This record gives sequence, C-alpha cells and structure tokens, in this order.
Amino acid sequence: MVADDIVLPFQIEASGLRGRLVRFGPLLDDILGRHAYPEPVAHLLAETVVLTALLASALKYEGVFTLQAKGDGPVRLVVADVTADGAVRAHAVFDEARLAEAEGSTTVPALMGRGHLAFTVDQGADTERYQGIVDLSGETLWECAQHYFRQSEQLQAGLRSAVRLTPTGWRGGGIMLQRLPDPEKEVPTDREDDWRRSMVLLGSATDDELTEPQLAGEALLYRLFNEDGVRVFAPQPMRFSCRCSRERVTAMLSSLPRAEVESLAVDGRVEVDCEFCNTRYVFDEDQLAALYAA
Ligand SMILES: [Zn+2]
Repeated sequence: MVADDIVLPFQIEASGLRGRLVRFGPLLDDILGRHAYPEPVAHLLAETVVLTALLASALKYEGVFTLQAKGDGPVRLVVADVTADGAVRAHAVFDEARLAEAEGSTTVPALMGRGHLAFTVDQGADTERYQGIVDLSGETLWECAQHYFRQSEQLQAGLRSAVRLTPTGWRGGGIMLQRLPDPEKEVPTDREDDWRRSMVLLGSATDDELTEPQLAGEALLYRLFNEDGVRVFAPQPMRFSCRCSRERVTAMLSSLPRAEVESLAVDGRVEVDCEFCNTRYVFDEDQLAALYAA
C-alpha cells in the first residue's frame, strides 16, 4: 500500500540540496468533508493545504504555522494552519453570488482577484512571529509562493504542487526544494549549476505524478532525481485535526463585553460555530450567566 497523508523529507546526494515531498489523500477529504464548498473553492483550499504543509515542513518551529491568502475576488480568504506535530485544518470564505464570475475556473486570479499571500509562525506568547508576505501574482498559490522565494534573500526555494478531485476523493501533492544561504561569499559555479539542474528536474514533475495514488512518494523522487542520487528520510505523518474546544470558545466569549454576547443570542441561546471544522458550541441562558458569574 502506498503511504498517504505524509511529508517525506529527502536530500539530493550529488548537491546536498534538501527537499520535501507532500502527498495527501484522506486528509483532504477529512478537511473538505467538513464543509460544503463549491468545487472551485474546494480546489483552491486543497491547494492551500498542500502549500501550507510544504512551507511549514521547511521550517523548524514549535507551535503553529499559518498560511492565508486574501483577495478581492469571489473567494475572499483561504487559510490553513499546521502544528509542529502534524495537525492540519483549513477553511475558506467566499461569496456564493460572485462565484459565477469565475466561470468554473480554479485559478488564483479568477477566484481571488488581487490580494496577498501571507504566512506566520506563532510559537506562543512572547515569541517572535516570522511573517512573509507577497502579492497574489500567479495562476496557482504555489506560483505565488515561488514568487516570494524569488524575492527572498534568506531562503531560496523552488516548489510545485497539484490537486485534483478523483472518483475516490481529493488528491494533492507537492515538492519543495530549498537552498540555504551559502556561508561563503562566492558561490562556486558548480553549486549554481546543481541548483538550476535540480529546479529543471523539479519542473518536469507532472500534475498527474504529483497526485497519483498508486505512485509512492519515494518512487516519484527516484524518477525525478535518481541520476544525482536521492536519499529519502522517514515520513512525517499528517492528519486533519481542529484545535477548537468548548473551553476555548468559553474563554473567547468571556473576553467580550456581556452586552455584546447577549446581543448575539437567539431565543436565549448563543451559538458559536468553529469556522475550521464546523463544530457548533451552544450556550443556553444558564451557561451564559455562569460565564459572567465566574
Ligand atoms: Zn474546530
């Protein structure tokens, strides 16, 4: 059986370049199954999830990595986050009426219009947030991210990803190669050549190869990079999981002015839906009173 819902770290032996391969199946169905998004929105959100996992896997962090794209098109927001231990969740905000403008297209310009892509790492209170931001300037989200790395001085990276809906469910895959800053001032010519060559090989991966359920990640990496030698490390399992809880919703409500919360009540009950997983938290009059008695 081919391993799914994993991030596979690898290294190209000849050049020492490092990379990650992402391969998602059931995880995407778990996330998208929580929502009833029209297919183009689901497609864009699946793309967001794959890209989030790719970018997060390139960083060392404790806490939460978040990627979000905001635009002025029919889809106003896509956001996904992933914890250091591999829990992923995502959601989208879109305007149903304006979705017809995109005419079924799944490209970033058609769905999101103009806007930006941003990522942050939140390692908890009193820690630094690393933020990268770039205009939405590509047909796909991975192209937008690629644009970011072209401008970045800290990290050069090349990536590509693909998603598709098959009769058995959503499939997503992607590969990212990264090049760390060279400590020496002069970059030897052969290293530049290695990088270009690996980028060409990466560019040769097709959307079908990236998403094919029968093609193992290791086999795809071998197919692409075997001439230069590729070493694959242990896979990191990923899963859908939401971090919402009644405790968190309670804390959020208690932090708001009582009158504001009471103005949200319908028939004495306040309902709070988690936008990521659609779990509904209901507070009746007694529970609301208890909130403010504490
Ligand atoms: Zn939730």
